[in-house]
Amino acid sequence: MLENSIARVADLLRQSKEAVAFTGAGISTPSGIPDFRSPNSGLWDKVNPVVVASIYGFRLNPQAFYNWIHPLAELMMNAQPNAAHLALAHMEQAHSLKAIITQNIDMLHTRAGSKTVFELHGHLREATCVHCFKIFNAEPIIRQFLLDHQVPHCPECGGVIKPNVILYGEQLPIQQFLAAQNAARKADVMIVIGSSLEVAPAADLPMLTVRGGGKLIIINFEPTHLDSQADIVIHDDASQFLPKLLQRMEFTQ
Ligand code: NAD
Repeated sequence: MLENSIARVADLLRQSKEAVAFTGAGISTPSGIPDFRSPNSGLWDKVNPVVVASIYGFRLNPQAFYNWIHPLAELMMNAQPNAAHLALAHMEQAHSLKAIITQNIDMLHTRAGSKTVFELHGHLREATCVHCFKIFNAEPIIRQFLLDHQVPHCPECGGVIKPNVILYGEQLPIQQFLAAQNAARKADVMIVIGSSLEVAPAADLPMLTVRGGGKLIIINFEPTHLDSQADIVIHDDASQFLPKLLQRMEFTQ
């Protein structure tokens, strides 16, 4: 059954010219970073991310936001790309994949070596003062915050510094979003990996591919509302499935 799915996905990718991957938090759970919606992920337990991780919540109470993101930031800063990130990077190198559209902020795709990555929800590479808009390299700021748990402030104006991640209620980075829309429209195959597909507008992108006549493949532990639109649905661990897919593609080139 699984062998059959691997062969079918490999065939679709081999015939494609404009394949893209669309990834969510599930691709990074094997790297030790919990997602938001898996049962027992822990991130919904004490606070609702839609409140604490919203731009309104951040402006009202930055300390609450920073308290919430502390364990997640610690895991992200120390995480390594897993076999799923590495398989996608190899597929791009082998010209089997044009781009990755990701909702993740953990930077594990670029660290795995992927080149064309549209980070729709931002990243932890940079941070911005919400008062004077000065941009900082985020790494030393986050490392300091991991040690002292204090809200970081701008050394120039004293404003609160916010990592360049898109909070609920904020607009997506427009250039990244337009490029992702374009890639999704052109895609003849889209592989959705580890996303509940519940966060709009990012989660609307797979339907652009479907409406354009492209094939949709979904790899996720749990069912999603787009399973009925997909040509192939695989309920498996992305970090197990993608290396097997890569192996199959290399073996049958
Ligand atoms: P989500 O938490 O809503 O859904 C993740 C899905 O992945 C779940 O349906 C789960 O069943 C599945 N899953 C978990 N581990 C898997 C695995 N190993 N293999 C296959 N499937 C797996 O995630 P989302 O759709 O990306 O939306 C969450 C939002 O939270 C996004 O906006 C994202 O920016 C943010 N987020 C990012 C990170 C990160 O950067 N790593 C982590 C948590 C949340």
